[in-house]
Amino acid sequence: MGSLENQFTELYIHDSVWNSEVAKRTRSLLKVSAIRVDSKPYADQRSQLSGDEFTKSKKRLYLAPHLGQFFRKCPGTQGAACCNYFVLNLGVQCNMNCSYCYLQSYINSPLSQIYTNIEEALFELEGKAREFPNAPFRVGTGETIDSLSLDDLTLYSAVVVRWFQNFPKLTCEFKTKSANIKNFINLPHSGNVVVSFSVNPEKIVEAEEHETARLWQRLKAARDAADAGFPVAFHFDPMIYVSGWQKLYSELVHLICSLFEPLEVKWISVGALRFPPQMKHILRERFGGDSIGNSSELFLGKDGKLRYDLGLRTKMFTHVKDEFLEHGKKFPVFLCMETPESWLGTFQNTPRKVKGLDELFVAMPS
Ligand code: SF4
Repeated sequence: MGSLENQFTELYIHDSVWNSEVAKRTRSLLKVSAIRVDSKPYADQRSQLSGDEFTKSKKRLYLAPHLGQFFRKCPGTQGAACCNYFVLNLGVQCNMNCSYCYLQSYINSPLSQIYTNIEEALFELEGKAREFPNAPFRVGTGETIDSLSLDDLTLYSAVVVRWFQNFPKLTCEFKTKSANIKNFINLPHSGNVVVSFSVNPEKIVEAEEHETARLWQRLKAARDAADAGFPVAFHFDPMIYVSGWQKLYSELVHLICSLFEPLEVKWISVGALRFPPQMKHILRERFGGDSIGNSSELFLGKDGKLRYDLGLRTKMFTHVKDEFLEHGKKFPVFLCMETPESWLGTFQNTPRKVKGLDELFVAMPS
């Protein structure tokens, strides 16, 4: 990953939060001069972004309070088995640059945004926790923005870790492709903040996951987090079909098995490349016709997304599941945003009936 200080070429801060801690820290850490504004810049540009505009949106940062709802159910995908996940969005857009990134399909704002009012987000979450005191909500902060890659600007990870100490029944997930754990790793915690890393074989990281932490950096950060008593998790998502994929994913499983014990790993999710067809043009524009999204043979599913065919997906998921079993380590492996047919093909069962996974799939209030 490049250094944070040069990552943005434009910085806008809403007047109402100019003197907030996040704004002051961001102004001191970024090289670009901040512009004080009383409304959102580029507000008139709300149509679908071109590839070039999307790239520019990663270089412009806007700090402002979020005026809508923070906490909501993970949208999942139509027809997929739902793992009852909730999201707490603390910003939108990502400073890394994966070729297959799903954000390219729905972000239509020409700038990245960090929400400055995390206290209100946590207040909203507290309301839910008190309304449903026995519901074991799993809440992730890494859906529309990476949980940790901009943490040096916000220090939100420390705020979240401290907050979750008071709500031991809830689980939080920091989901990242960075290795930035330094702002919370030495804090006392209640063991209910899961530090999770999306992983792929290094060959795929190099080719498709631009400006992210290298695989070894992510695994080292995961090891450090586990040593500090944080549960860790891994997302084999999206698995990508390339020549020699079996060997590459076997090696990745082997690495994880050699570094972690099942008790340290809260879950391992597995999913495959998927995106809506309208994202193809932006992939072609930003990464060329040979990029993985344009060169793969994908088929339109019932949820309107392009994916590998069911047979290949099942083969890929089964490969990863069986590799873990071969190492004799019982990690809780489950499928992310996959159809009942995939579950049956991979596990010969539905998720509620797979031992160790049933609690992830219980019905939850929304
Ligand atoms: S890290 Fe995630 S959100 Fe960021 S570019 Fe990659 S896929 Fe998109």
